[in-house]
Order: sequence, then structure tokens, then C-alpha cells
Amino acid sequence: MAVKQFQAESKRLLEMMINSIYSQKEVFLRELISNASDAIDKMYYRALTDDSISFNKNDYYIKVTSDKEKRELIVEDTGIGMTEEELEENLGTIAKSGSLAFKNETEIKDGHDIIGQFGVGFYSAFMVASSVTVITKSIDSDQAYKWKSNGAEGYTIEPATKETTGTKIILKLRENTEDETYDDFLEEHRLQSIIKKYSDFIRYPIKMDVTVRKKKEGTEDEYEEVIEEQTINSMVPIWRKNKNELKKEDYEAFYAEKHYGFDKPLKHIHLSVDGAVRYQAILYIPEKTPFDYYTQEYEKGLELYSNSVLIMDKCPDLLPDYFSFVKGLVDSEDLSLNISREMLQHDRQLQLIAKNIKNKIKSELKTMLKKERETYEKFYESFGRQLKFGVQMDFGANKDDLKDLLLFYSSKEKKMVTLDEYVSRMPEDQKYIYYATGDSYERIEKLPQTEMVLDKGYEILYFTEDIDEFAVKTLMTYKDKQFKSVASGDLGIEDEKETEDVKAEEKENETLFKTMKDVLKDKVVNVRASTRLKSHPVCLTAEGEVSIEMEKVLQAMPN
Ligand code: ADP
Ligand code: MG
Repeated sequence: MAVKQFQAESKRLLEMMINSIYSQKEVFLRELISNASDAIDKMYYRALTDDSISFNKNDYYIKVTSDKEKRELIVEDTGIGMTEEELEENLGTIAKSGSLAFKNETEIKDGHDIIGQFGVGFYSAFMVASSVTVITKSIDSDQAYKWKSNGAEGYTIEPATKETTGTKIILKLRENTEDETYDDFLEEHRLQSIIKKYSDFIRYPIKMDVTVRKKKEGTEDEYEEVIEEQTINSMVPIWRKNKNELKKEDYEAFYAEKHYGFDKPLKHIHLSVDGAVRYQAILYIPEKTPFDYYTQEYEKGLELYSNSVLIMDKCPDLLPDYFSFVKGLVDSEDLSLNISREMLQHDRQLQLIAKNIKNKIKSELKTMLKKERETYEKFYESFGRQLKFGVQMDFGANKDDLKDLLLFYSSKEKKMVTLDEYVSRMPEDQKYIYYATGDSYERIEKLPQTEMVLDKGYEILYFTEDIDEFAVKTLMTYKDKQFKSVASGDLGIEDEKETEDVKAEEKENETLFKTMKDVLKDKVVNVRASTRLKSHPVCLTAEGEVSIEMEKVLQAMPN
């Protein structure tokens, strides 16, 4: 039988994995169990739409068995199984999801737990196994198949015998080395604790044969060891548990288990709502920007469950675009299970949930801003741009949701301030919220246009990102104060007397100004004397509403 090669990138990834880049090998079990659980979910779905299949919950389980003699660990499920084509497709290509664009390898070498991030969960088995055998029979096939691989060399697929639908995965554990022992993964206690730690909430029973000490029948104090099949997981999903029972670590573990991100979440929000619409939700605000976040590829969405059964992987309707960084899930008993995607969009319950969630995220961020400024700034560094886009999008429909969450650099202290902070310390005679735009804080500081405003003792917001000015243009005002660029023609602080003097001067030197304008031709609209310069001889200002910086951005935009 010909040995098939893994695809090139798969091979590289597999090698990295086997060379134990991951800090914790034990997560392989979590990956195999969650695949098994997914496979049972798929069966459940099928039964919903196919009357010839009846889904009796008791028939579905995952079983973990260890065979010390053969040094084998077996994970078996009664899920949907795989056809020959599916075996090829799913297990012949690592990272089929196409996300193998690793941001950088150092991140991986740091020991981040990234298995499965890229749909590579299955291959984590090779961290502990020298060979992996998959025997599977699909609900759609009478023939079972066996997939086998010793790792990087490739894999084989051949027909096999298996009575029941489902999948059995056999790991031949690696030989112990001086630094690593793999025998651990054959020990009952160790396996039980790994299952408890990572897979407790899995909704199907994870069974194991466990040795228990029992009183010998008919005796007073004689004991014997018997093997008993036990269910190891509690099967209660974390989002159905009481908040008080859960620790930060539990939420973090769930975040990792769900592959929501490489990082640890910055914040979690656990909701249990019992109002007009009932639902539970766990939402996470990640710490770091996902590498594809500001690209077209990034898909927003929350997992959607109905009565603890997953009905959609990424439901985009649950999140506004400006909160697209939020990860997590929603479970509602008020949603119908076999609701179609098109119907979901118009579902009133879903809309209510979405609105509710939006408000919760908003208030959580506000609280963070108020009580944990540093954490908020970390958040803002990753996702602030998205909030500013949010202000600008849809003709500013969301501006009221977002304006209090914005931060900008300020001339006052070399740090970020809120608009509220700015306005609340404005001197009484200050009419406008002033801002200056430029490539960096340092460059803005040197702009001649800022001089006069700063001399007045007014604070200036320093806009370093293209989107900043567009966002405030959309806002128009904050607490009734208009925004004004320091580069605009009229700053609203010009001294009348001074202005008159300057005008007179301009008149006196009429020919000089005219000559300057002629020389510069169509580069400028006008050349005139100004009151605003202190230590600089000349500066550029904009006559209309569109500032020089904005014009630059607009010109760079594709038509
Ligand atoms: P992911 O779970 O992220 O898709 P994995 O590498 O864990 O990536 O698994 C790859 C694919 O192999 C799965 O998407 C699924 O189609 C298939 N698969 C893995 N394990 C099983 C199983 N126990 N039963 C059925 N299909 C499975
Ligand atoms: Mg998986």
C-alpha cells in the first residue's frame, strides 16, 4: 500500500508539534475529546433533519481506555464517523482552515498553547504517540476505514472492520526518554484529572474503566478491587454554572479550550439573563489583537447554542462591527434548534439578545475605563481603532454608544485622555476642543500651528491615526463643544486688536504677499499674515472644513 505524504506545510507543522513546542503535552486528550464531542453533535444534527435516525442520548458517549501492556491509549466515540474521502480530507491536511499564516514563530516558541487554533487539534496526538491509528465508520457508509500514520512520513488508508458507527483512535505511546515519560498517560488517575481539568463541561459522558475498592460480598471487612465503568465529567457547561463557583482560571481554561485566542483574555463577562428573553453567555475581551483582525479575513461572531447544543459556530448578528473583537458564546433556550441562518437574522429573540449583549459590553468597558485605567489602555491599544471606525461607520449611528470610550493623546500629559476629561478641564473662555494631526506625538509637538493654542493654556488632542480626525468629524461635538483643528484658518481665539494690526501690516505689504502667492501658484489658495505664529515664521492652514491631513488621507483612498 502506498504511503501518502502530508501536504508540505502540514509536514512542517507536524515536525514542530512533535518537537514539543507546546508546554503541556496533556492537552492532546482535550483535543481528541472535543473532536469526539463535535462528532456526536453532528450526529445529533443529522437526527434532527433525518427521520430515519433516532437520537437517543444514552447511546452517545466517549470512552477513554488505556492498555498498559500494549502502551496504548484509546479514545472512542459513537459520533458521525468519517467516510474514506473525509478521512483523506480531514486528516491528510493539517490546518485545512488555511490559517497556517503564523504570525511569527517566536510566539509559538514562547510556549503559547496554540494547538487547535488552526484546526490542528488532531495532530497534537503525535506529541505523545509514535503512531496513531484511526478506525472509523461513517453514518453514510457501510464500509469502515483505517487511517494510520507514524508521524511526518505520511499516512495510509485502507478498509477495515468496525461494527458500529463512530470513531476509534488508538495512540501508541512514545517510548520514555531521559527527560520525558509518557507512561503517565496510561495511568487512571492522571487521565481522570486531565479529563476533569479540560473537558468537564463536555455534554456527553466521557467514560473510563476505573478500579474501585469494594467490600467483598458477604464479608464484614474484606475488600476487593473491581473495575467499574464511570463517567468522569460533570457534563454541566461552564456557562450554566453559577458565577460564584467559578474562578478566573476556569474562564481562562475555557478560553484556551475553545481556541478563542493565543492570549489570555483581558476580561470575561458571564451573563445569566432571565428576562424577556432567557439566555446565558460568556463573553471575552481578548488582550491582544488577533493577527488577522484588521484584515478582510477576520470574521466576527459568537458561538450560538440552543439548550446547550451548538447551532452556529460564528453568529455574526450577535455583535456590532465595532465590538467584533469580542469572543464567546450565547446559549438560549428560547431559540429554536433547527432555525436557519436566514431566519436567524430576523429572529426577534436574537435581536433582543444582541442588543442586550452590546449594552453589557459597553458598560463593562466603561467600568474598566473608570476603575482599571491601565487595563483599559491595554485594551484600547489593541482595539481602539475599531471603536473609532465604529463612530464613523453608518454615518455615525453608533457614536453615542462609543464616544465616551474613546481615548486620544493629549498635549497635557504624554498620555491618552477621554473627551470627558478634556472638556471637564477646559478653561471657561475656551470655545472649542482643539486637535492637531500628524504622524507621531513628537512631530505634532513641533507643529507651528499648535503654538498659539498652547500659549493660551489650552489643551490639544494629538491625532496620530488617520481615523482620528474622521471620527471627531462624525461626532461633530462633544458635550456641545465643537472640534477644531489647530490648522484651521480661524481658531476662534484671535485677539481683535492683534488681528487688526496684522491686517494693516498685510495691506502695507500687499505686493509682497501677491508675489509670494504668484510664486507658489496653485500650491496654495492664499498667502496672508497671521496672528498665530510665535516662534515660527510661517505655517500651513486649511481654509475649509477639510484639514490638510484629511486631504492627504482622502487623496490616498482608492476611488
Ligand atoms: P478541528 O477540530 O479544529 O476541525 P482537528 O485537527 O481537531 O481540527 O480535526 C480535523 C477534522 O477531522 C475535524 O474537523 C473533523 O472533521 C475530523 N475529525 C477529527 N476527529 C474526529 C472524530 N472523532 N469523528 C469524526 N470526525 C473527526
Ligand atoms: Mg478539533
